[in-house]
Amino acid sequence: MAADTPPDPKFIFFDCDDTLYRNDWKTGDRLTQKIAQYTESELGVDGAKAYELYKTHGTCLKGLLAEGLLPRDRIEEYLAAVHDVSLDEIHEDPAMRSIVAACRTKADRFVFTASISEHAKRCLERVGVDDLFTCIIDTRTCDLETKHSAQAFEKAMRAAGASDPLACMLIDDSVKNIRTAKTLGWTTVLIGKHERDTGNAFECPEADFHLNDVYELPSVMPHLFPSLKPPYPRP
Ligand SMILES: [Mg+2]
Repeated sequence: MAADTPPDPKFIFFDCDDTLYRNDWKTGDRLTQKIAQYTESELGVDGAKAYELYKTHGTCLKGLLAEGLLPRDRIEEYLAAVHDVSLDEIHEDPAMRSIVAACRTKADRFVFTASISEHAKRCLERVGVDDLFTCIIDTRTCDLETKHSAQAFEKAMRAAGASDPLACMLIDDSVKNIRTAKTLGWTTVLIGKHERDTGNAFECPEADFHLNDVYELPSVMPHLFPSLKPPYPRP
């Protein structure tokens, strides 16, 4: 591919939380609180230990399993409990619907989330885009692998029927996910300009495109949105 040829991905993977909706991590914070609540009340694992597990193993769940703190027959109970959050801070977004609906075809669009499909589906319904994707690739699809692991990306490609990483694109607010995607050869779109925990500006040379939000996508890759013309939809 010549350097000036824009990427033309055939498999487009949208992250869900803080990408297809953004609310200053209000929903993300609720999920984090639920994890701490569950590990503390059900497993006797305090917040500091839960955070250490997350840092060491990529997700708290993987850490709990690796260290024998959660029996495997309680995985589904854990997943249901930590995703049982209010979604009141996610709102219907006709502009997001217009953009997603115009992005190539439904057969090319996937949701790729570190959460469970039930949670993603509830979020997508709130936004009003739940009918626009071929399928939701969730943590179960990826055999509970951390989303930013190469294994999770390989499982996601398999689920989507993709065999060539160069034909894949990730749109995601996580720098870790973007880095893995780039390493594997995907086209990458990082969403958001500031880190959740520190508020510092993101540094991510692995991002092919670095945007404030998904609404900016048609202006940088207009060939993926042939039916849209500027001015592009915004809320
Ligand atoms: Mg996200």
